[in-house]
Amino acid sequence: MTVNNEGWSSFKTNKWLFTTPSSSYGRPRTPVSNSRVSESGENGTAPESPTKRANRPRTLSDRGNEILDNHEAVSNLYAWNWSEVREIYPEKGIINPSIYCYAISCVQLLSHVPAIVRILQDHRCQDPICLCCNWKRFFLQYQGHAGTINWFRDAFRKDKKFNQGRQEDAHDALLAILGKLDKIAVQSPRLKDRKVADDLFGYSIRNEVQCRVCKHKHVYYENNTVMTVRMLRKDPSGRSHSIKELMQHLFTASTIYGYNCSKCKKKSDAPVKPTLLRAPQILLLHVSRFSFDGYGKKISRPVAVNETLDVASMATAGQSTVYKFCGAVIHYGSGLDFGHYFCLARSRKREQQFVNLNDSNVTLNANFRIADQSYLVLYRRAEHLTNIGGDKSMI
Ligand SMILES: [Zn+2]
Ligand SMILES: [Zn+2]
Repeated sequence: MTVNNEGWSSFKTNKWLFTTPSSSYGRPRTPVSNSRVSESGENGTAPESPTKRANRPRTLSDRGNEILDNHEAVSNLYAWNWSEVREIYPEKGIINPSIYCYAISCVQLLSHVPAIVRILQDHRCQDPICLCCNWKRFFLQYQGHAGTINWFRDAFRKDKKFNQGRQEDAHDALLAILGKLDKIAVQSPRLKDRKVADDLFGYSIRNEVQCRVCKHKHVYYENNTVMTVRMLRKDPSGRSHSIKELMQHLFTASTIYGYNCSKCKKKSDAPVKPTLLRAPQILLLHVSRFSFDGYGKKISRPVAVNETLDVASMATAGQSTVYKFCGAVIHYGSGLDFGHYFCLARSRKREQQFVNLNDSNVTLNANFRIADQSYLVLYRRAEHLTNIGGDKSMI
């Protein structure tokens, strides 16, 4: 496993930062220009309703509103539930020739996302080593009990990735697949020029930093697709932290030491408060189990997976977005460079049930509590799961 430099590390290195002009902060939202409305019209989506606009927080910068505008345009473009895909495939395994469980588990996880399956169904191209064509041909549409994984290696051969003959990190594999999805040609005019991974999994964090000297508030935005959360210090009572608690920790206020204010040009230790501006359509979490004790050990403590998760307490305007746990890549093993990955996912045909996909083995009706060793976790919006009755939380 590798340590992902998301969150505050990236904030400090300015990797994902978009600085807004300080003068725009605090102003009421500027109206959507005519050109932007007609742009979204061409993409086949209705212009944003005045009610939605009116409900927005009024203290966002123009950049913040732009992020939300793009996000709202996405909701009509993809298949969010299984009734919108052309065919629902039976659950099947993938043969692991040696050390490819990190790739197999990620392919299985993403094959349980309706939007991805529909994109693969609509995709066609001339490239013989195309990840998407071969994913469809040798796995989704494959008639046997288990397909092969050779096409995954072939797709990344040119990138010099995943061909070293050793176990790799599932988080790296997931990011590499999302990178390919962002570049594929989708035979659908409405998806032309869209960044698929960002549309499906993208989220935005709004960071508000206040200079201690001049009191000016600066706002920065981070955009990303996979949210890295870290294991928290062991609870003295021995109870497991929940996924929601790990997420909430990412959104707690902290201090940037030696913050350089662009307004008064003075340095100070500035308080910063991150909030979730754009909740993703599909929430992908990476549970970083890397220990920073100097030995680089894996933290094997269990996490309690919330079956239902509402991000209202982290949202910029406190708005509720409710998610349902839909799958995980689970890692068993004490070390970072070995062990085994497998996938747990909601069944495509019976969404109230989970299926355990472990290389070529498939176990229907699996217990979702084995996800307490999750390394990657996937949540879909509750409104996209049409086949689950009731809203009772298992945890
Ligand atoms: Zn292709
Ligand atoms: Zn200042």
